[in-house]
Amino acid sequence: MTEIIIASHNLHKIKEMQAIFNHPDVVLISLNDLDDHDEVEETGLTFEENALLKAKYYATKYQKLAISDDSGLVVSALQGRPGVFSARYSGKGDYENNLKVLEEMKHEQNRDAYFVSVIVLCYPNGRSINYEGRAYGKIATEMKGSNGFGYDSIFIDPETGLHFAELTDEKKNKISHRSKALSKLKENINEIINHK
Ligand code: IMP
Repeated sequence: MTEIIIASHNLHKIKEMQAIFNHPDVVLISLNDLDDHDEVEETGLTFEENALLKAKYYATKYQKLAISDDSGLVVSALQGRPGVFSARYSGKGDYENNLKVLEEMKHEQNRDAYFVSVIVLCYPNGRSINYEGRAYGKIATEMKGSNGFGYDSIFIDPETGLHFAELTDEKKNKISHRSKALSKLKENINEIINHK
């Protein structure tokens, strides 16, 4: 069995990643399992840079494979904001972040947006591979639903017309940006665990 560290303290992300990535030869261990409370500052200007910072820190520290997801919401009418600043857009919590986007989008006709997840897998020697997934949709005019996290309550899935926060975990995990990025990683997993 190969252990891979999920370089995140975000319980929602960890839960999603463990649910999406089930593989008989791999166990995804979280920083909570390791009782590790180190914080890696996200000083990068891109999703790739931030994901690499986190994955590399833990892969080097524990001399194990580590994966990190850096993700966010990219809104066309807001020139790509909140983007890499998604988690800290309002300087407060998820609810305030959603309110801020809704307010900024109040008079916008163009509601196009996408979620993006960049997953970086890092080897103990610092070598890394990137995987990207996107989920396209629209920004709603109000919050709806109580599942998920982050901007799920204001993001509409075009296929069902439902807000992400109204989807079951199973449905979100089939269509999300994170599941698309993780699926790409999973396609490579045998090669990865055999060439540690
Ligand atoms: P990170 O921890 O720096 O990658 O921050 C990611 C932020 O992007 C989260 O705090 C959310 O605000 C947002 N985000 C990422 N993925 C999702 C998702 O699946 N649903 C809703 N919001 C998300």
